[in-house]
Amino acid sequence: MKIHEYQGKEILKTFNVPVPRGQAAFSVDEAVKAAEALGGSVWVVKAQIHAGGRGKGGGVKLARSLEEVRSLAQEILGMQLVTHQTGQEGQKVRRLWIEEGADIKKEFYAGIVIDRNTQTPCLMVSSEGGMDIEEVAAKTPEKIHKVWVDPVSGLSQSQATDAARTIGIPEASHAQAMQVLQGLFKAFWETDASLLEINPLILEGKGTLKALDAKFNFDSNALFRHPEIVALRDLDEEDPAEVEASKYDLSYISLDGNIGCLVNGAGLAMATMDTIKLFGGSPANFLDVGGGATTEKVTAAFKIMLSNEQVKGILINIFGGIMRCDTIAEGVIAAAREVKLSVPLVVRMKGTNEEIGKRLLKESGLPIIPADNMGEAAQKIVDAVATR
Ligand code: ADP
Ligand code: MG
Repeated sequence: MKIHEYQGKEILKTFNVPVPRGQAAFSVDEAVKAAEALGGSVWVVKAQIHAGGRGKGGGVKLARSLEEVRSLAQEILGMQLVTHQTGQEGQKVRRLWIEEGADIKKEFYAGIVIDRNTQTPCLMVSSEGGMDIEEVAAKTPEKIHKVWVDPVSGLSQSQATDAARTIGIPEASHAQAMQVLQGLFKAFWETDASLLEINPLILEGKGTLKALDAKFNFDSNALFRHPEIVALRDLDEEDPAEVEASKYDLSYISLDGNIGCLVNGAGLAMATMDTIKLFGGSPANFLDVGGGATTEKVTAAFKIMLSNEQVKGILINIFGGIMRCDTIAEGVIAAAREVKLSVPLVVRMKGTNEEIGKRLLKESGLPIIPADNMGEAAQKIVDAVATR
């Protein structure tokens, strides 16, 4: 799960990581009021979307008067912001963060992720902060300094100070750098984040460090113990099909192909997508209805797939173990009655109550193309979609 920059900064504050003062705004008037309340003479109007690269896309702009705050807020609020992380269609800006302008002397980078190779958290720091860290990683990886952290003892004072020294934070700011980096690590660890990225971490003219940007991703499997983080969820930023699927506890991921897949079990779902690819097709989604799916759940899953206009055909691949084939058949029939089924549907079923499931489908009168094994099923749906 992701959150907005301004929400991330609120979390950072509670871990004693300094951030610039700012206020969220949902309208142009609120933006101007926020700037007024903050005072000063320079403000930054920042689009709040769940994607990075906002500065380059025109979503982060400096204002030197309240009138300018107003005109920038007008320009940015409601815009379709395109960044390298949003895809071509961009993301609509519905929230702003009005922040005091910072006196930036130097921009550094700090990020924390779980390193899968060592299975420990890894702090990455660099002198090359700002907007192009992906390019730094690609072209000059030696400029990214990594520190592996023991999760039990946390980031030590010497690790933090060494990191600060390595990236050229001046000696006079080392004590604060230690506090900031340790605070970041604590924030990452205690919120069960999967990623925390501060880009840029700035050094101000007067020698103090501040987190000027904040990006958190959280491990969804740990959200049950963080209701305060779940409360920050912004559904406008998420794929509507995935939001709908999550209501029914379905594992659903939107993809950009045209064959909808309804499968039970994550492994079988992966294999099904591979098989579709093997025959030259392209899956529109990953969908695992799980082992204990009810008719209601299957109906919801089917409807979610059909609501995707890209979908030109559906492949149902079920291995009936705990999941019974007749339950799937009932769900498919119920859903196909509710939403008009206008695309070819290939069904392959094996296992528990296979015969009942197949009979139900046959008696339903739905135009179902049966298949006996995975290869045949994939081939049939790819052919059916190709001829449309
Ligand atoms: P993104 O990473 O999505 O482009 P950032 O929050 O990192 O967004 O902002 C982009 C750039 O805008 C920063 O690298 C920094 O140079 C500038 N910037 C952001 N916030 C401020 C601020 N409060 N004061 C001055 N400059 C800022
Ligand atoms: Mg940034």
